Amino acid sequence: MSIVDRTKENLEHCKCLSCPSYTTTCKIKEMPHNILDMMKGIEKIDDLEGMFCAYSTSRCIDEDKGCLCSECEVHEKYDLENQSYCLYDGGTY
Ligand code: SF4
Ligand code: SF4
Repeated sequence: MSIVDRTKENLEHCKCLSCPSYTTTCKIKEMPHNILDMMKGIEKIDDLEGMFCAYSTSRCIDEDKGCLCSECEVHEKYDLENQSYCLYDGGTY
């Protein structure tokens, strides 16, 4: 279980949507799921295509084109040591 709380505040700081690895194709493909998940409440769901450090790997992102986790406030707040949480369970160095 991740140590990162699944809160709206944390999601607002998440950089994944600005990240080059989160391709436009993935954003378009996952938008309907993400809207539904937001309506359910992100603290109640088991999976989200975003804030991957708090959930699990992506079902769409499949190539590391750079990671913005190290620039993220959530990364600092929870003393996270890894990055690329969308591609690797628990992230990688
Ligand atoms: S976890 Fe890192 S590589 Fe993956 S989308 Fe987020 S910022 Fe980009
Ligand atoms: S550390 Fe990475 S996955 Fe976690 S909230 Fe920040 S940008 Fe998103």
